[in-house]
Amino acid sequence: MKQEIDYETLVKEAIRALDSFYGGDSNSRYIYGSAVLTDKGNIYTASNYASDTASLTLHAEQAALSHAASHKDTRVVAIVCVGKEDPNGERLCHPCGICKQLIWENSNKSGIPVKVVMANLKGKYLVKDIKEIVPYPWPSY
Ligand SMILES: [Zn+2]
Repeated sequence: MKQEIDYETLVKEAIRALDSFYGGDSNSRYIYGSAVLTDKGNIYTASNYASDTASLTLHAEQAALSHAASHKDTRVVAIVCVGKEDPNGERLCHPCGICKQLIWENSNKSGIPVKVVMANLKGKYLVKDIKEIVPYPWPSY
């Protein structure tokens, strides 16, 4: 399904998802939001789900991808990441290596060139194809 992507709405949804942060210090700079758009036109959002161990924390992008999958809606067209790392809200949030891998695998399975939307808290964003930000993926087929 070919569709026009409304990036502004998607970024707003990811920013709104910051409020669903769970499990940690609500004043932390390490709060992230994500919004996934699927080829059915649905949007699934999530924030990170923090663990006291830190290493068990689910990243917002992971949680948003899982949220979509829980609705059997896995053909991702675009995914936003935004976060509170920068106190000024200016810096664009990039997905971490683990999340890039998960997004790449989703794209590889669906054949859809997933758009990765790196946003800041003010709604500014940069869009890159997952293949641009994962140039030498695994698996390589
Ligand atoms: Zn991540």
